[in-house]
Amino acid sequence: MTKILFLDQSGKPGGAELCLLDIAKPYQDNCLVGLFAEGTFRQLLEKQQIPVEVLTTKAIEVRKESSLVKGLGSLGQLIPLINRVAALSRNYDLIYANTQKALVVGAIASFISRRPLVYHLHDILSLDHFSATNRRIAVTLANGAALVIANSQASQAAFIAAGGRKDIVEFVYNGFDLALYEHLPNPTAIKQQLGIQEDKFVVGHFSRLSPWKGQHILLEALTRCPEKVTALFVGDALFGEQDYVQQLHAQVAELNLENRVKFLGFRDDVTSLMAACDMVTHTSTVAEPFGRVIVEAMLCGTPVVATSAGGARELVEAGITGWLVAPGDVMELAAAINDCINQPEQSASMARDAKLQATRRFNVAAINQQIAQLLNKVVKT
Ligand code: UDP
Repeated sequence: MTKILFLDQSGKPGGAELCLLDIAKPYQDNCLVGLFAEGTFRQLLEKQQIPVEVLTTKAIEVRKESSLVKGLGSLGQLIPLINRVAALSRNYDLIYANTQKALVVGAIASFISRRPLVYHLHDILSLDHFSATNRRIAVTLANGAALVIANSQASQAAFIAAGGRKDIVEFVYNGFDLALYEHLPNPTAIKQQLGIQEDKFVVGHFSRLSPWKGQHILLEALTRCPEKVTALFVGDALFGEQDYVQQLHAQVAELNLENRVKFLGFRDDVTSLMAACDMVTHTSTVAEPFGRVIVEAMLCGTPVVATSAGGARELVEAGITGWLVAPGDVMELAAAINDCINQPEQSASMARDAKLQATRRFNVAAINQQIAQLLNKVVKT
């Protein structure tokens, strides 16, 4: 079996990290996950018996959208980390960088140790998300990799459009453990636990609190929905977006929505919570690279509305497996929620089709096989 040194800059479990958990699992006897920060992600890996080490105690700026240039500016500070990774990688067949700063460290270490580099691209390298300089650096380094795995066709296309090599990039969707969705808890019991009356129509939003995830759009849409519509916001500000959190709370007060909104913070029981929702909303205001929450909602059999951009368009077929609305469009979002309320049978049937489709397309066993084949090719060449 291929021996892999995985690298991830984050100590916190965002979508890229949760995806890595599933990818690393089959390699648990033959891998190490090297992190650049302490945090709860380490505990999640340990819980799954995946070997993990925090490789640096130096605080590296790990905010996802923060400047790579700044990171490179302090390259000197990274030298001990790079040397550590280069030395460690000699015990492995390849280096697997899962985030952008992991790419910077992994690319240089791979050059030193002559181990092939694989880069899992979880981002859309567009100017909405990255500065031109960041993008150039990321693409240049990624072009030196043996393989780039893009998490959607949208991420793959943006990589190529930014100058990425066509011959090394493949798209592979995130996989999901279907067993987790077989026995879902009773929605009424979960609603009770949350102190929500049975007759409320619960709209869930599962995402870190960040302006581009668009929680403010859902708040605004609530004012155009019946009183019984209640919103659950699940997720935390993972990368220090405290201003936005305050802004959301101010908006709730301003719109008089105190009795219709709950913020639950970060939860590790997303599946149960989603199963208890009457609808899940995805409201990103710019293109989502993949959108794990959309697939999770589909697997729970909960109707889902997503914004029509990026990877989300590859997950939801409008009118067949869910709703697609224009990013940032409050009216369209409210219309989709009202549709779901007013046409319960049609909504339930779409959700059933969505579950079937998602079960077929995103089974982690099949996805992991796809990745294993790609990695085998890298090691053999
Ligand atoms: N998530 C979670 N707890 C929370 C909020 C989110 O476990 O409180 C998970 C969610 O279920 C999903 C991931 O975080 O698997 C977010 O991934 P997504 O692709 O939607 O967004 P990203 O964080 O990668 O931008």
